[in-house]
Amino acid sequence: MKEINFEDTKTAFRIKSNRDLRRAYILFKLISYPILVKIGNPVIHVFSALRIPIGWIVKPTAFKHFVGGETLEDCQPAVEKIKTANVYSILDYSVEGKETEKAINAALEETLHAVKNAGSNPDIPFAVFKPTAFGSHKALEVLSGNTTPDESIIEEGEKFRKRIDTLCKTAFENDVPIMIDAEDTYIQHFIDKVVIEMMQQYNREKCIVFNTYQMYRHDRIAILEADIKKAREEKFFLGAKFVRGAYMERERARAAKMGYEDPIQPDRESTDRDYNLALKISMENLDVVSIFNGTHNEYSSMYLTELMAEHGVDPADNRIWFSQLYGMSEHISYNLSDAGFNVAKYVPYGPVRFVLPYLMRRVEENTSVKGQTGRELALIKKERQRRKANES
Ligand SMILES: Cc1cc2nc3c(=O)[nH]c(=O)nc-3n(C[C@H](O)[C@H](O)[C@H](O)COP(=O)(O)OP(=O)(O)OC[C@H]3O[C@@H](n4cnc5c(N)ncnc54)[C@H](O)[C@@H]3O)c2cc1C
Repeated sequence: MKEINFEDTKTAFRIKSNRDLRRAYILFKLISYPILVKIGNPVIHVFSALRIPIGWIVKPTAFKHFVGGETLEDCQPAVEKIKTANVYSILDYSVEGKETEKAINAALEETLHAVKNAGSNPDIPFAVFKPTAFGSHKALEVLSGNTTPDESIIEEGEKFRKRIDTLCKTAFENDVPIMIDAEDTYIQHFIDKVVIEMMQQYNREKCIVFNTYQMYRHDRIAILEADIKKAREEKFFLGAKFVRGAYMERERARAAKMGYEDPIQPDRESTDRDYNLALKISMENLDVVSIFNGTHNEYSSMYLTELMAEHGVDPADNRIWFSQLYGMSEHISYNLSDAGFNVAKYVPYGPVRFVLPYLMRRVEENTSVKGQTGRELALIKKERQRRKANES
């Protein structure tokens, strides 16, 4: 096996032209200034709420870097370009927070289109969706809690289940695995219940349906172990996408405001410990578990490759995938794929106005406050210097 070196920027940026690198450098440099992000975010929110066109600012900058396009078809050039370096794509319709029947039906139609597209395109190995696009928040919350739901809530829950079933059944019929993202804890219990039902139905021969385990939650190791036990007893395959979790601040704030126990780990070390433990447990149960390692963390990415070697598992084993978001952590994606591992980029798409919440999260987590930008900038800088030295 080729040795993996995340410092190898030549491989990391092999599909980026000098112009691409310059553009990426300017973008990360700009969002490294917390003050610009602090001012920019509310301005963009206000413009968006007032329906003032913002495409002209966002589209050539953050949108171009972090988003595949406005439609599925727009993403095809990115899919093909990424694939030249043997990295696959997962197209994620990233429209958030719409709850009307009309919006739900439109999201369902678009996601079914994406599932079928994935089924017919070998460069797109998975389909994915956000469950909150398919049900009312209120119903998901009540059905996840301890209060008795009334008739209308039960009906809403049933509608949600039917929509999720339509998506999973279409994935099954098109022979393409499908992942269900995880969001806030207070709605997750019902989603978990429905997703496990889908696995019981569609994961009999192999893994088609994947649930998401957010390892910043302190109860997830116990849930993972219980799910593995269930999968063994009931003879289905467990699809496990692992992430640390994207909503820590709002989870903590809600718990504090409403006076319930914080569902998030007490500190960073506990999240890291459980994340890596989840990988270890899953590797020990690889006969029934498929692993999707959704992380930009170098240690967790390298650790899984070490576990695979320890267990004598081939890097190209189709039960294990590594994934990073489009426009981030190329040094992990492209160096892993160069060493023969299965790697896919999560490529979001959707109309500019609707993918703004996704973009805001990317920009916020890339400010110098949270630390990612330093790493991205340093790597881009190093590669630009390397290229310059080679030219002279
Ligand atoms: C392919 C892919 C798919 C994703 N899908 C989802 C999804 O469905 N749902 C979702 O919620 N997120 C999703 N994410 C985002 C993910 O949850 C993380 O927010 C993001 O990837 C950063 O975590 P990391 O492991 O990449 O990196 P790191 O930068 O190493 O870890 C940062 C993370 O550590 C945790 N953390 C930081 N400080 C603390 C603290 N004080 N206490 C406890 N925990 C702490 C937080 O989760 C934080 O986001 C996805 C990410 C990827 C790459």
